[in-house]
Amino acid sequence: MSVHFYQAAVVGIGLIGSSVARVLRQKGLADRITGAARSQRNRETALALGVVDEAFETPADAVAGADIVFVCTPVGSIAETIGGFVSAVKKGVIVTDVGSVKAEIINQVRPFLSDNFSFVPGHPVAGTEKSGPENGFAELFEGRWCILTPEDKTDRQAVAAVREIWEQAGMKVEEMSAARHDKVMALMSHLPHLIAYTIVGTAADLETEIREDVLKYAAGGFRDFTRIAGSDPVMWRDIFLNNTAAVLDGLQRFSEDLTVLQKAIRQKDGETLKNWFARTRKIRREVIDMRQDQPENEKLLLKNKG
Ligand code: NAP
Repeated sequence: MSVHFYQAAVVGIGLIGSSVARVLRQKGLADRITGAARSQRNRETALALGVVDEAFETPADAVAGADIVFVCTPVGSIAETIGGFVSAVKKGVIVTDVGSVKAEIINQVRPFLSDNFSFVPGHPVAGTEKSGPENGFAELFEGRWCILTPEDKTDRQAVAAVREIWEQAGMKVEEMSAARHDKVMALMSHLPHLIAYTIVGTAADLETEIREDVLKYAAGGFRDFTRIAGSDPVMWRDIFLNNTAAVLDGLQRFSEDLTVLQKAIRQKDGETLKNWFARTRKIRREVIDMRQDQPENEKLLLKNKG
């Protein structure tokens, strides 16, 4: 028997929120979907796209009567958003989030917790560099991992319900501690973004003539970096401000490794360089074998072609 809700609410109808709403709709998981967005543009777009049945400016209005609430706003606003609507929820509602950082959100939500609702922290590890409701699509989550980080006290029935929704979205769901999640994400996602933001910024600071050539001939590595560095500034600001310790730890390890390569280049130590690159090529093959190599953007292209 699969989960089904009379009303689901999505607070923050951007890329992820609108994709969640599309899944709820396509899989028939909720009879009614309400949404909250501060901007009139996002409310109108979500309504025009039919991803929500009703769109409200205030989260408290969107969550009234809901059986499950997905909080899909930037990391730095998730706890405050939950704190702002808890007095408006129906008793027994499940509240879950999609934030890319977990420990800090859980710490910030803790003061608002009560017997009135269950909070299931989650993170669907799928996304693109685009933002907004018009860029969401239900297939975004297919074949990707979703990590849930419940605490010992978290209601297991609520965890099971959230797990089932993500499984219906096509995700593989795993549970782990928030601390472990944050360490893994720091290396797997946050650090690569920081490197992309750095390198594209460095190119932008070059003297005009060289800068123009770098942009003109942008291909391969640099082009991929510009795609990543084009990600939403607010979302990424919040990630770095809320996963500080794990990112700084990863950055420390990264600089040590960078120094090793820097030294090998200066000393013309081809053996060290070749061995290093052979090891990373093996890692690339492992990623392909684990079927984690297809960017979400390509899924959208394939969907639109087919
Ligand atoms: P998005 O497209 O920019 O959507 C975020 C939405 O939240 C916006 O539509 C915005 O709508 C609303 N919002 C922005 N600032 C807010 C604030 N201070 N308070 C309340 N609402 C606010 O971003 P997204 O990519 O969907 O990301 C949403 C969440 O998903 C983030 O927590 C992010 O860490 C997580 N996530 C993202 C990805 C990814 O790759 N994009 C992947 C996994 C998880 P209004 O301005 O109209 O309110």
